Amino acid sequence: MSAETYVALTPASLSARLGDLAVLRERVGPPEGWQVREVGDGNLNLVFIVTGAAGQAVVKQALPYVRLVGESWPLPLKRSFFEYNALIRQAARDPGSVPAVWHFDEAQAIVVMEYLTPHVILRHALIEGRRVAGLGERLGEFCARTLFRGSDLSMPAAAKKADLALFAGNVELCDITENLVFSDPYFAAPMNRHTPGLDGIVARLRGDLSLKVAAQHLKMAFTSRGETLLHGDLHTGSIMVTDTETRVIDPEFATYGPMGFDVGMLIANFLMAHFSQPGHESAPGDRAEHQGWLLSVLETLWRSFAAEFGHLWRTERRGILYQASLYEDQGHGLASEQALADLLGRIWTDALGFCGIEMHRRILGLAHNADFERIADEGRRAACEARALAMGRQLMLGACAIRGIDAVTAMARRMD
Ligand code: ADP
Ligand code: MG
Ligand code: MG
Ligand code: MG
Repeated sequence: MSAETYVALTPASLSARLGDLAVLRERVGPPEGWQVREVGDGNLNLVFIVTGAAGQAVVKQALPYVRLVGESWPLPLKRSFFEYNALIRQAARDPGSVPAVWHFDEAQAIVVMEYLTPHVILRHALIEGRRVAGLGERLGEFCARTLFRGSDLSMPAAAKKADLALFAGNVELCDITENLVFSDPYFAAPMNRHTPGLDGIVARLRGDLSLKVAAQHLKMAFTSRGETLLHGDLHTGSIMVTDTETRVIDPEFATYGPMGFDVGMLIANFLMAHFSQPGHESAPGDRAEHQGWLLSVLETLWRSFAAEFGHLWRTERRGILYQASLYEDQGHGLASEQALADLLGRIWTDALGFCGIEMHRRILGLAHNADFERIADEGRRAACEARALAMGRQLMLGACAIRGIDAVTAMARRMD
């Protein structure tokens, strides 16, 4: 099939088109009995669940345009190639963290992978007020392992440079991030929208010159500092969970960038979940406990990230940076610890900046969050969003002076 020109799959055509794939026959069963459902709820791609006598599989196919907008906004199929390449690297760097990839067809832009069940999208679970055991620990580990092992701290220089070149081809998806995340929130970009009650706050944010400068400094960090392979779209809609398990999906935005980017996006999405909770309460205050839990997840997430990153620093620092020959081998282990603390501090400061930007763009830009969008009452929604916008600004402008995750969660509590 790979030699053929690209054709989008449909539930009706899928078994005829993929029925010969050995891995699908093995995992799902004979194609005569397949049932196919399209479940893509994302902004970009087709996602089919294939069910047969032997099991289930997910077939994800890129479309040659942005699904959310339509054919007027073309987007290359090659994003599927980057998603596949990111998935196999994440699987190697943090085994079990992502769905297993069973097949990739570059010409058809198809990834066949493990169907996660009974997993649900974390964002929906958080809106419902559900908890996930081990969530913060697991996400902190995922970030530490993928960010450390995808960088010059760990990889042979030639392999890292080859990877940097490979992912540099993900131009169009980076362009989405560069525009939608880093610039559009700060001017009246055509596709922007926001809740009506926010007009005054939005005007003040867009008139805040320091904020616009901070946003462009962060954009420059994103475009120029190829420190590690990022997931690139690590929000709570790219995480699937059960009550006890956490998995990461959808790395089509993968690119080399600053280590703080993925971590900052995650923190932002937990903060937005926190700020949206009052909009989902059925009796006054009945989400307070859930809010407390969300902030505790954030604290655990950062601590887990720092602990695992430190562990990898001490046990796997085999790349070209901060070599043991400069430190431990000369009895200067303390200096190595100092370098680690310094580096974590830089990642932290970057993460807070990216976090602030993500909070702004989800409220002011094109792609909004269900956390806020599901709040039907516009007045209530605006009140929740206003707190997130204000906190995002404080994080972007005050990042250097905010000393730790407890200071961030304390700030979130003060905003309520
Ligand atoms: P997009 O790139 O279009 O956002 P996603 O990869 O996020 O696509 O997938 C869209 C939806 O499909 C997810 O929100 C999830 O509900 C479902 N999905 C995707 N991959 C899997 C999987 N491996 N197992 C189960 N469900 C999945
Ligand atoms: Mg998605
Ligand atoms: Mg989705
Ligand atoms: Mg996606």
